[in-house]
Amino acid sequence: MQIGIVGLGLIGGSLGLEFVRQGHQVWGVSRQPQTCQQAEARHVVHKASTDLFSLAIPTLDIVFVCTPIGLTLPTIEQLSQILLPSVVITDVASVKGAIVPLASQLWPLFVGGHPMAGTEQQGIQAAQMDLFQNRAYVLTPLPTTPPSAVDCLAGLISHLGSRLVVCDPFSHDAAVAQISHLPVMLSACLLSSAQGMPEERRKLAQQLASSGFRDTSRVGGGNPELGLAMAQYNQPALLAALRDYQTHLQYLTTCLEQGEWGSLSDLLTSAQQSRPDWIDPHKGKES
Ligand code: NAP
Repeated sequence: MQIGIVGLGLIGGSLGLEFVRQGHQVWGVSRQPQTCQQAEARHVVHKASTDLFSLAIPTLDIVFVCTPIGLTLPTIEQLSQILLPSVVITDVASVKGAIVPLASQLWPLFVGGHPMAGTEQQGIQAAQMDLFQNRAYVLTPLPTTPPSAVDCLAGLISHLGSRLVVCDPFSHDAAVAQISHLPVMLSACLLSSAQGMPEERRKLAQQLASSGFRDTSRVGGGNPELGLAMAQYNQPALLAALRDYQTHLQYLTTCLEQGEWGSLSDLLTSAQQSRPDWIDPHKGKES
């Protein structure tokens, strides 16, 4: 296939590496000339340019918009002036409700997408092979989305080794608020509270910090622009998840204040028992 990718960072670059490896013809567009040079040098794409008009290719089949979230709709609007009507456009943004209905108005062959894969790194240097292996890749078509466009994207995704999940954009946003956006915020607060310790105690704690703190602080220590955009574009669902979490935090506080060790033990036991339902060790890398 002839594939365009706009935004050659962690996600766009990792998709490019896979598509080139699979023998597709891949055309990239990114903001900075040095990113384009690196993308060509690393075989992330066959050809890269800073000019979106370079995607005005008569044989292009599909374009992946992999820019920061806030640029997704403006990019689709610009693409709508350039592409032939037969081209499928998809995005990879971590929020869907704020994007999919508007993007579908701009481009009938638009299919919302979200690969549930990532690292705390960003930019072309963070692009890696096999990022999407064994990970969920969500598609959020509307009832009006042409099935042929969904099938085109689903075919490509199946070759990434991803698990295809289809749901509506707003169900997606409620689910990722709980399992992705809330953990980013809580992890950032954990780092912020640790950073606020008195200097001497903090220095000791930093020396002692090991795997537990590395795991719990990882997502909060990632790309701040992405975290901010998750909150801005998924505000209602994130607030609902945060308020529910506060109820649990209050319960935990009461257990501790009143020495209700039986209740605390029940909470921790239930957490241990339920974790495999959320994190299947056979799913591979954690995101
Ligand atoms: P990223 O590593 O920062 O990559 C975004 C890239 O977009 C940058 O490298 C930048 O390229 C490029 N860009 C910025 N403005 C542009 C413009 N006007 N035109 C063309 N390219 C432009 O971010 P990312 O983590 O890949 O995130 C990209 C998208 O993936 C977001 O929508 C995010 O929600 C989604 N996503 C992220 C994750 C994750 O864990 N990180 C997971 C799933 C989905 P230059 O280097 O040229 O400036």
